[in-house]
Amino acid sequence: MLIMHEWALAEAVLESVKRHLNEQEQGKSLQVKSVNLLFGELQEIDEEIFRSGLNTMLADYPFNEDVIHIETDPALFGCNVCKREWTLKDQEDLSEDEREAIHFLPEAAHVFIRCPGCGSPDFRVIKGRGVSIGSIILEEV
Ligand SMILES: [Zn+2]
Repeated sequence: MLIMHEWALAEAVLESVKRHLNEQEQGKSLQVKSVNLLFGELQEIDEEIFRSGLNTMLADYPFNEDVIHIETDPALFGCNVCKREWTLKDQEDLSEDEREAIHFLPEAAHVFIRCPGCGSPDFRVIKGRGVSIGSIILEEV
């Protein structure tokens, strides 16, 4: 199941890069120079499995693995009570184990995290979940 998840995601990324390339080409000869993927700090995607999915499927696409870069998109939390915003880095009171738990099980954030401003457990995750394509850069050949 888990493998399916990462591989489905890898395929979705490859398909959308290919679609972008096709849309931009319009008679020009373009190639993909770089693709920046943003992996939310709070997601359950295993980067290694994702990469192996990419490698296996890339044979069917007109670009190779070197152009694909993965960056971590830091999580941002927002307090519903005092409106303060903060990141995981600001949570100095979290232990390593708690950080790990949150990374692999984002729902655990609500168990361990409290607003550093007012102490409220009533907060939302503003960003840092899921995977998105930050940019696709094409060049003429
Ligand atoms: Zn607060």
